[in-house]
This record gives sequence, C-alpha cells and structure tokens, in this order.
Amino acid sequence: MDVDVVIVGAGPNGLLLAGELSLLGLRPVVLERLRERTGEPRANGVIGRVVQALDLRGLHDRLSGGEPLGEPGRYFQFGGLALDLGALADNPLHGLRIPQPRLEALLEEWAVERGARLRRGHEFAGFAQDDDGVRVDVRGPDGAAYAVTAAYLVGCDGASSSVRKLAGIGFPGTTDEHFVSRSGDVVLPGSAFADELGSIDAPGQRMFPFAFNRTERGAFVYAPFQPGVHRVAVHEWRQPPADPDAPLTPAELRAAVTRVTGVDLPMTRPDSDAPLAWRRRVGMHSRQAERYRDGRVLLAGDAAHVHSSVGAPGLNLGMQDVFNLGWKLAATVLGRAPRDLLDTYERERHPAGARVLMQTRAQTALLAPGAEVTALRELFGELLDEPAVLRRLAELLAGADLRYEMPGGGDHPLVGGWMPELHLGTPAARSRLAAAQHRARPVLLDFAGGVALAGWQDRVDLVRADAEDPPADAILVRPDGYVAWAGSDTGELTRALRTWFGEPADAG
Ligand SMILES: Cc1cc2nc3c(=O)[nH]c(=O)nc-3n(C[C@H](O)[C@H](O)[C@H](O)COP(=O)(O)OP(=O)(O)OC[C@H]3O[C@@H](n4cnc5c(N)ncnc54)[C@H](O)[C@@H]3O)c2cc1C
Repeated sequence: MDVDVVIVGAGPNGLLLAGELSLLGLRPVVLERLRERTGEPRANGVIGRVVQALDLRGLHDRLSGGEPLGEPGRYFQFGGLALDLGALADNPLHGLRIPQPRLEALLEEWAVERGARLRRGHEFAGFAQDDDGVRVDVRGPDGAAYAVTAAYLVGCDGASSSVRKLAGIGFPGTTDEHFVSRSGDVVLPGSAFADELGSIDAPGQRMFPFAFNRTERGAFVYAPFQPGVHRVAVHEWRQPPADPDAPLTPAELRAAVTRVTGVDLPMTRPDSDAPLAWRRRVGMHSRQAERYRDGRVLLAGDAAHVHSSVGAPGLNLGMQDVFNLGWKLAATVLGRAPRDLLDTYERERHPAGARVLMQTRAQTALLAPGAEVTALRELFGELLDEPAVLRRLAELLAGADLRYEMPGGGDHPLVGGWMPELHLGTPAARSRLAAAQHRARPVLLDFAGGVALAGWQDRVDLVRADAEDPPADAILVRPDGYVAWAGSDTGELTRALRTWFGEPADAG
C-alpha cells in the first residue's frame, strides 16, 4: 500500500480525521481539489458536545487562542424561540467562537504537525476496491492522472460527495425547492438601529441581532461578525423558482429584507479584501446517506448528511463522526480491531445524523410563515417554561442526548454516555481527565486500585487516580470520550476490553 488511508476533502472533517489517524500512528494522505483555501465564510463557531471532544485532544485551547474550556453559554434558540439555559444545572451546550477558515487553518496545522500529508490541487476521480485494499484514481494539479493504493478510503468531500456517488450509496431525504435563502456581508447605517444593542424596529415587532427574527413572511437574521460589517441573512418559503447561479446583488438582498421585515434597510458592500458571504441558496436539503460504509469506503461529515443550518449543528455532527471513526479505523488498519468494530461507526453515528435531520426540520417548521405556525410557536413557547423541556432541547441541540450501546459494558448508569469531566489527583499532580486523552487512546481510570490491564497495556492507558467522590470504582473511557464500562466487576471489564480493543496481546 502507498498509504494507510486516503481522505478526500480538506474541509474541517477531513483535516480532523487526518490528525486523529496520524496521532494513532497511521499514514493518511488528504486529497483536496482546491489549490488553496478559499476563505469562504461559513460557520462562525462550533457548538455542542464536540467542543468538549476537541478539548480531549487539547484542541480547544489551540482553536480558542489559549482560552480553556469554560462554562457553556447561557442563551441559545430553537426555531427562533429564545432558550434561557442559565437555570439548567449541567447545561451541555458548550460553544467555541471561531470562523470556519481559521478552524480549517488550525486543524491543518495540527494534522500536518502530526505527520499527515495534504495534497492540494489533487482531485479524487474514482476508485476500485477489493479484499486487500482500495486503488484511488487522482487528477494531479497539472491534469495528469495517477493512482494511490490504500487500505481504506474516506469521503470527507462535502455535500455533493463524489465518493458517496461512486460508491453507489443512496442519499435519500427531502429537498424543498421553494425555499430561498439570501445572505451577504454589508454595512448598515447607524440610523438603522434602535438602541446600543443593535436592535431594529420593524412594524409590530423589534428585531434583535443573532436571533432568528420570524415574521409572517419569512425569517431575518443579522449579526456583526466583523467591526462595522453585519452578516445579513433572509429566508423565504414558498418562493417561485430562482436561478441558483446568478450572482446575488445588494439590491436583491435589500428587497428580500424589505419583503420579510417591512423595513427598507439601506445596505452597501463593505470595502474589504476578505472573502464576503454573498450567496443565494435555492432549495433546502435534508438528506442522509443510506449507509456510511461500503467495504473499504467510508463517509463522514457533510458527505454523509446535509440539513438546514438552523441551530448550527453541522460541525458538531460531522466532527463527532470523525472522533467516532478515527480510533476504530486506526485499530482496523493496524490489525488490532475486533472483527465488527468498524461497523459500529455507522451503527452509532447514523442515528445521530438522523436526529439532527429531525431537529433541524422541526426548527425550520417553527420558523416558517403561517397562522398555524404562529400558534404552534405560542404553544411551544409555553412548553419552554418547563425546565425538563428546556433541558431536553439543550441536550438535543448539543447532541448530548446520545447514548451508545456498549455490549458487555454492564449496567452502571455511566455506561454508553459521555464521560463527565473529573478533576483527578494522581500521585504526580492534580490534572483534568481531558489531559489523559490527548493521545486519542482509551483510558482505564482506576479509583479503587482493583483493576489490571494485562494484555492491553499496548493499547489502553491505565490511570490510577484519586478523585473527590468518584462516580464508580473504575471506568473505561473510549478515545471518543464515551464510557464503555464502569464498576468493579473485572469479568465485565475484560469483556468490554475485548469488545472495543481486541484480544489481549498475550492471547496470540
Ligand atoms: C453558509 C454556511 C453557514 C454555515 N454555518 C455553520 C455554523 O454556524 N455552524 C456549523 O456547525 N456549521 C455551519 N455550516 C456547515 C459547515 O460549514 C459544514 O458542516 C462543514 O463545512 C462540513 O465540513 P466537511 O469537511 O464535511 O465538508 P466541506 O467543508 O464541504 O469540505 C469538503 C472538501 O472536499 C473537497 N472536495 C470535494 N470534492 C473533491 C474531490 N473530488 N477531490 C478532492 N477534493 C474534493 C472540497 O473542495 C472541500 O474542500 C455552514 C455552512 C454554510 C454553507
């Protein structure tokens, strides 16, 4: 094999996967058809469980410019309905503010430091697989075709994934052709704002920055992401067919804002060299790959699922796919994985994707115009007074309501869920549990001194630790941060180690 794994696509998910695999000793190569990063403004940050997952690799501090993982944010929204999460004990909705181009630049740096290779200007053109490996056809920057052989191929090549299409994996779901969204980075005059918070008065309602401001004609969102520049987005339903390729002009954006809000907002293009977010998106797609694996070919990120961006779930979903896949794929390539380990990737992550499609469709429905929707929002707003409802929504948005089946893991309440952060006192020093997981290896935490790792020392880190009031005598945490086993039954522990990390070394 020329390399262990070919990853197609140097978006956030391809780059994160390249870093994870390199960290675990593999030689991945990333093929990216663009010669250089475009700097296209997309996400402005990352929310949800993945913020904590990034922290497990020490990436949070790197991406935040040195800020340690802090408290989750207090306010969020569901379908434009305000959620005040301040009253929730253990609010799971962490956030990390970072523009996507910077996220990609830092992930690339991290992956390359760990040995991953990135070939820009190299386009994936096809593949053939057999029992031994995959031959990947590539068009190089000069147009010349060549092939790379690898044990596995992973499509992180975005929503229109060629890997998915050539693997013959269906992409069922829905497309609302009559939904049109227009967005642009603009300069708004100071006179547009009603107060120092930047709110805007519209007929019958006050509009707020960062919020989905719904009217009976659509939804309007605006926020100052750069000094003096607002990103303005306006979403309309039941629209006549629009040309998705014609360039969006300030006049068209302004007219759409006026239609939806009833306010004529003068807007001009900023005088900036930075790439600006000017786009018209025609159609709302909600689709999911019917399978995430076809033999030696896997899908992750937008290649596996597309959905409305309401609630900003894309990176949370895609990057957690990668954290789930990375260690399983590495163990498989290194020949240490239990037989069906790689199949658990789809088993665990397909339901997570389906849930995001469900909640983003629900949010989109709550934003749509119409008297029935207005009534539904009123009812939903009343339900939000219930702390249990608020918690349920916060967990849904964070992807924190997810529990994986852990065969052989026993029935301790921690099993299958996300490992809560602990402050450990080891003989050496006090440290955070997250620090023990920087190497993307499983960790067996032993609080009672009663477990041993015979046969798995090469793959699992044993941490003998003290913690104030530990939640179990011992806990086995997978590299993606989920608890595979907890308790004191060492027979159960052995089963869990075999299930996830293979046969012990001395068993031959
Ligand atoms: C306007 C907008 C706003 C968004 N806002 C948010 C937000 O606030 N929060 C959030 O979490 N998410 C947001 N998202 C979603 C987020 O941007 C995506 O989920 C994320 O980019 C997906 O990453 P990816 O690596 O899977 O795919 P992509 O980022 O799409 O990367 C795929 C890469 O594959 C390359 N590629 C494709 N085909 C080939 C080929 N044949 N050969 C070689 N290379 C190829 C492409 O050039 C590209 O670089 C937003 C998206 C948009 C469009």
